[in-house]
Amino acid sequence: MEGALTARDRVGIQDFVLLDETTEAAFLSNLKKRFSKDLIYTYIGTLLVSVNPYKELDIYNMKQMDLYMGVNFFELPPHIYALADNAYHTMLTEFNNHFILISGESGAGKTEASKKILQYYAVSCPSTTLLNTVRDKMLMSNPVLEAFGNAKTLKNYNSSRFGKYMDIQFDSQGDAVGGHILNYMLEKSRVVHQNHGERNFHIFYQLVEGGEEDLLHQLGLERDCQQYNYLTQGECAIVSSINDRNDWKTVKNALQIINIDEINTNHLFGTVASVLHLGNVQFDSDSKGHALLNSNNSELRWLLGVDAHRLQEGLTYRKIEAQKDQVLSPFTIDHAIYARDALAKAIYGQTFTWLVNRINESIENKDSSRKTVIGLLDIYGFEVFYVNSFEQFCINYCNEKLQQLFIQLTLKAEQEEYQAEDIEWEPVQFFNNKIICDLVEEKHRGIISILDEECLRPGDVTDLTFLERLEEKMGNHPHFVTHKLADKMTRKTLERGDFRLLHYAGEVTYCVVGKRNHNVVTQFKSSLLKLTEILMAKEAWYIRCLKSNESKQPGQFDEALIRHQVKYLGLMEHLRVRRAGFAYRRKYEVFLKRYKPLCPATWPHWRGVPADGVEVLVQHLGYLPHEYKMGRTKIFIRHPRTLFATEDAFEK
Ligand code: ATP
Ligand code: MG
Repeated sequence: MEGALTARDRVGIQDFVLLDETTEAAFLSNLKKRFSKDLIYTYIGTLLVSVNPYKELDIYNMKQMDLYMGVNFFELPPHIYALADNAYHTMLTEFNNHFILISGESGAGKTEASKKILQYYAVSCPSTTLLNTVRDKMLMSNPVLEAFGNAKTLKNYNSSRFGKYMDIQFDSQGDAVGGHILNYMLEKSRVVHQNHGERNFHIFYQLVEGGEEDLLHQLGLERDCQQYNYLTQGECAIVSSINDRNDWKTVKNALQIINIDEINTNHLFGTVASVLHLGNVQFDSDSKGHALLNSNNSELRWLLGVDAHRLQEGLTYRKIEAQKDQVLSPFTIDHAIYARDALAKAIYGQTFTWLVNRINESIENKDSSRKTVIGLLDIYGFEVFYVNSFEQFCINYCNEKLQQLFIQLTLKAEQEEYQAEDIEWEPVQFFNNKIICDLVEEKHRGIISILDEECLRPGDVTDLTFLERLEEKMGNHPHFVTHKLADKMTRKTLERGDFRLLHYAGEVTYCVVGKRNHNVVTQFKSSLLKLTEILMAKEAWYIRCLKSNESKQPGQFDEALIRHQVKYLGLMEHLRVRRAGFAYRRKYEVFLKRYKPLCPATWPHWRGVPADGVEVLVQHLGYLPHEYKMGRTKIFIRHPRTLFATEDAFEK
């Protein structure tokens, strides 16, 4: 009808691959059009793009879950359930392992996305009563880990301050029967220091605000966050949009469900309270400048199970082993504060590890039958603060690695496969961030290696000598700059002692990573390498989360902010590769085995080589020449619809 708006005009295109032109402007305009109709999901082939709506949408209910269960990917509007369901069914038919990589910057919606997927599996997979308890435990691990590992930051009121990889295990019937969590580098410095406008981990406020009178009394706590040094540095202990009292109830209930008994729960909160008391321990100095415990200190008696005298000694003296003797050397006040904070961080870090271990015990499936897994990776997003410490360095390095993995598994691998299979192909240019990953992690030459070497070198190693060494080695690297190396204009923006990395997602200036954090950084590098290995052995699905605006406003589409994310997440390049390429490919043997019943010439046996059998089969099915290409070992199918039609014929 003339003048009538088509669906395309009204709600945009559901899959960017079908867009008329592949310009950034067309991409953004489509995203914006959909966002204005509360359509936050759009595909690029099988990759899901999600824009944070900052408001509750009525699209995550049982009805929607039912709708998406077992339905072909492109038959319904894009949804996170469709991706979850597709990964699940591919896993079941091919009996292999998968992972879903959820990426995007802080506040983009990664954790919410991972929760939606877990809920979908918990609700939609077949179940028995017994298995429901495992699912409840998996679901309930979320509020517990969020209480202990998330915090209000300037970017996100519920920011994950640790990385999380969760395997959900399925048996051959498709039942979710167990799980396992790996956690990565909790941001422990938050326990003792928070920037203005930020809070400590949620659990501290939940305990103080929501803890029962008896419990607070028993732990020597007052119901007033302002009393605790570790809770007040950000000057925002109470936030109207966070309901610590309600969250406290949720966490207590969740702890029960994941089988943490009353005694252990009490110990757990005792430890949390100890950290708060420790933060209130103050020091004076004597006439020689040595640290003494402030005489008003009554906190020490609340530090559970520790001899107060020994603790006092530990906080004010360093023990030096000289041959067979031990000598106590007194601390200055600064040293004593450092020791106190280090102890608080260590206690909290160990508590978090203990908690993850307990959750793992409770969701572990001990049955030895073969299982397949879907892994969910929700790891801290790329972030830039005013002051960026070694923790931001690790977080951003992690994001570089994941971007590299994405490039390897999609852009690079895809193009290499076309070449290997002799499929005609016009290469698509993309920015490969390997150069930045190498800058950080390369053996003998990367920043971490240089830090290792510096720490082993005899003599006086300081942050400054480390920086000088970096300058010597990195000299003219295009992604590395310091005050000394910078041109006149840039120099003004750098302090001596800082270094700046030009990450794939933007520039970040770090205050020197430093010798002090040498264990942490090196360990983090090896755990990331292990994670990469875990992921490389699985089939990948991607969710790219975009932050719609900086002020957490519902419905606001900040075009410049979104354009920046689209750019650095490499979405345009991904789209170009997808458009030029083929959505599906299957080895000839696999394709023939599945679909041979659809053609009399291939059923029940095809006697020739599989490639010829596939050719006969697809001709019989009426595939048009432009819809598929025959490679050396695989058939390539341009659009998923072609394959869906075949699947439908198969099911009939
Ligand atoms: P970080 O890296 O800081 O952990 P994140 O990417 O995990 O960030 P989330 O905590 O998932 O970000 O999302 C931030 C906030 O955005 C949520 O607390 C919620 O208010 C809102 N939000 C995210 N996704 C959705 C959604 N699908 N629907 C409604 N609101 C959402
Ligand atoms: Mg998060």
